[in-house]
Amino acid sequence: MSAAAETIAPSTQTQEWLASDHNLLIDGERVAAESGDRIEVQDPATEAIVTTVAGAGPEDIDRAVAAARRALKGEWSTMTSYERARVMLRFADEIEAHLPLIAEVEVLENGLPRMISEFTILKFGAEFMRYFAGWATKIHGQTIPVSPMDARNGETLTYTRREPIGVVGAIIPWNAPLAMAILKLAPSLAAGCTMVLKPAELTPLVALLLGELAHKAGVPKGVINVVPGYGHEAGAALAGHPDVDKISFTGSTAVGKDIIRASAGNLKKVTLELGGKSPFVVFPDADLERAIPGAVRGCFFLQGQNCMASTRLFVHEDIYEPMVEGIAAMAGGMQPGPGLDPASMLGPLISEQQRDRVMGYIDAGKQSDAELRCGGEALPGKGFFVRPTVFGQTNMEMKIAREEIFGPVMCIQTFGDSDLDTVADEANNTIYGLSGSVWTKDISVAHRMAAKIDSGQVSINCHAAVDPAIPFGGNKQSGWGREFGQEGLEPYLKTKATTVLF
Ligand code: ADP
Repeated sequence: MSAAAETIAPSTQTQEWLASDHNLLIDGERVAAESGDRIEVQDPATEAIVTTVAGAGPEDIDRAVAAARRALKGEWSTMTSYERARVMLRFADEIEAHLPLIAEVEVLENGLPRMISEFTILKFGAEFMRYFAGWATKIHGQTIPVSPMDARNGETLTYTRREPIGVVGAIIPWNAPLAMAILKLAPSLAAGCTMVLKPAELTPLVALLLGELAHKAGVPKGVINVVPGYGHEAGAALAGHPDVDKISFTGSTAVGKDIIRASAGNLKKVTLELGGKSPFVVFPDADLERAIPGAVRGCFFLQGQNCMASTRLFVHEDIYEPMVEGIAAMAGGMQPGPGLDPASMLGPLISEQQRDRVMGYIDAGKQSDAELRCGGEALPGKGFFVRPTVFGQTNMEMKIAREEIFGPVMCIQTFGDSDLDTVADEANNTIYGLSGSVWTKDISVAHRMAAKIDSGQVSINCHAAVDPAIPFGGNKQSGWGREFGQEGLEPYLKTKATTVLF
């Protein structure tokens, strides 16, 4: 880490914004938590406290849900889909216009490199919002021919209406604060729903900032309410709230199961985007010039705090050495540093607890028969930095290869000239099924292997291809339902079938 980088200060605009009150955003107003609680926001690169935000409790969740319920019947419900789309397009413009502010706030609360933050603000902020603004005007039902209802008068008309599902509770994690919030907000707005958004307690700022920008863009009050708070308090209150119609959750598989249990009371509709331990399968004819950087990017993006990360590499034994050597050289050359430093490609982990958790896995790897090829240590001094770590000769008996680490740790294992099913069985030998990739020049092997991988998303000669239009979500314990694309709109809509007997 360069010492100079530690002194890089955010812009005056960001400093002024950080000095504002950061109360809850309920019904278009900034309000303190009823308990008066505040949550400290820490910069994981310097360990400094950046600011504090109001911490919502169950009584604040009640207020936010009531506001969202009122808004569902107010001005928002009378706006046409064209008007909703225009508001969303203005929201996208606001996001783009505030790029430097959002990026600095996101870097300060999350630690990610500024360049990556700016990329996500454009791709998963503005562009994502515009993509879903396009869907707002394309939501419609069907007319359905039906058999006569009775013999006497057979003329009927049956049609379906697609209605907003209602009040949505969105609970999001800390690993990509901007993208996670927009992934929930965009389809919700397109469908005409209202939302109570609970950001992660570690990264509440970008969500509050987005709430402000949404109002500036003309989103009516109460349509988006932002309530930072702890998971077991605010999150649990939202998931269990009797007047919330749907929960959209992104986070760990363990909490996803809690959400299902909490939602049972009023049978909320639930979508879950959970953990992953994604395979990256490299056949002997693969182009290593592309596969090596692909593996490094796939695994170490967001310091490995990324559910799609390519954490389990399956490499054919004929190319194992050049592949591992290339990966270790490239990953070993990635110097962790504060996200505000323009040269930084790898930020700190989110917290001390997460750093210690990840180091626990790295120690377990060191004590196993796996071969440590690079990294394996945390940086001394301030900040929760861990070097990109690569273990070779791993196998699925090892804890590091089985469990989601959510840190910069890659596990590589080999396969021989076995049939595709044997390789696929190993790749699928996990409770997760979120992402995965296949690397080969043989189109037949590529498509056959892609079909065999049990994941919601498989990429060929790239990893974790994400775009607003590509459905994204997990099989097995990686989740329920899909986000992104037309399928991502569906969970925010309900169908009403209406029949007229003439
Ligand atoms: P991570 O491991 O990425 O921190 P979590 O699943 O712990 O993921 O957290 C994701 C989100 O879920 C956060 O906003 C967190 O506050 C919230 N959360 C944690 N526990 C609960 C819970 N019991 N009920 C509802 N939300 C929760």
